[in-house]
Amino acid sequence: MLKPGARIGILGGGQLGRMLALDAARLGFDCVIFTPEDDSPAGRVAAACEIAPYEDLEAVARFAASVDVVTYEFENVPVETAQAAGRHAPLRPGVKALEVCQDRVTEKSFVNEAGIETTPWQAVSSAKDAIAAAQALGVPAILKTRRLGYDGKGQQVVRRAGDAASAFEALGSVPCILEAFAPFTREVSVVAARSVDGAVAAFPLAENHHEGGILRVSTAPAPGADGLAGEALRIASAILSGLEYVGVLAVELFVLEDGRLWVNEIAPRVHNTGHWTMDACTVSQFEQHIRAIAGWPLGDPAPHSAARMDNLIGADVERWQALASEPGVCLHLYGKGEAREGRKMGHVNRLSPLS
Ligand code: AMP
Repeated sequence: MLKPGARIGILGGGQLGRMLALDAARLGFDCVIFTPEDDSPAGRVAAACEIAPYEDLEAVARFAASVDVVTYEFENVPVETAQAAGRHAPLRPGVKALEVCQDRVTEKSFVNEAGIETTPWQAVSSAKDAIAAAQALGVPAILKTRRLGYDGKGQQVVRRAGDAASAFEALGSVPCILEAFAPFTREVSVVAARSVDGAVAAFPLAENHHEGGILRVSTAPAPGADGLAGEALRIASAILSGLEYVGVLAVELFVLEDGRLWVNEIAPRVHNTGHWTMDACTVSQFEQHIRAIAGWPLGDPAPHSAARMDNLIGADVERWQALASEPGVCLHLYGKGEAREGRKMGHVNRLSPLS
């Protein structure tokens, strides 16, 4: 169990690292951020920062040797970087979570082998494959790059089987996955933690609304979803133990008409759909992650309030003054300079009594 005063290394310097570092500081830890960015959201609130490319394994070794535990705040940290860090300090979560979750085919295979349902899918490695997969799965379907997609990037909707070849080419003719369009009635997510000794704690489900592939709003606890909580916990627990995971992860789920849950995606990290916990729970997802990787007991995930979280995307952040004067708004800004279109600049939580 790490003592207050211990040093936590975080691979990645974005807003998730920033919010992890802020909660770690509250528990008396010092965070060191490893990031290729000169002026990162996390680096500016941390005790120290190592600025180097992820491929600079000497810098990675120096960074990891200077901390007591290493974690990551985004899933595309190269596996070699995480392995290099793990030679000098415990890496939590471990490399397996990255290996599984960096590739949509590996991830879906892992989920299905654990006896958990996903939308039907096929791996695609050529234009010919793409057409055959669209014929087999039916349309509409979604073609996605196997690696490096986020916020709806690296995806093409295929409306006619014959269009699958051009969709594959539009994505750069890289290895892809074709997914049947999931006939969901709503999208929810479960954010759950596993401790060093294998205890699991899950926050209530959040209901999520996306626009253009980007999360706009989460409402939690998801209204009328009490009946789904048991199955969501079963799914999250199977994934956590299958990945030998320590820390917080999120599972995005499609809810079908008949109440079945299909896994859309696993995020091996704290997650945007868990930001509501910052103000509606005594222990946020960020503190929960720090507790787990520090070998501390997990906090109680029960909320004291219901919450609606709105992302501030691009120019939305220009409303900060109005939001700051609105009573009851919990405003979180990420300290990013330029409010580019589609860029997550902050979020707000609005609380209400639990129903
Ligand atoms: P992803 O980046 O895979 O999480 O996809 C972003 C969003 O696109 C999801 O939250 C869904 O709203 C939608 N989406 C992705 N995959 C599918 C699918 N197979 N069927 C229906 N909608 C999907």
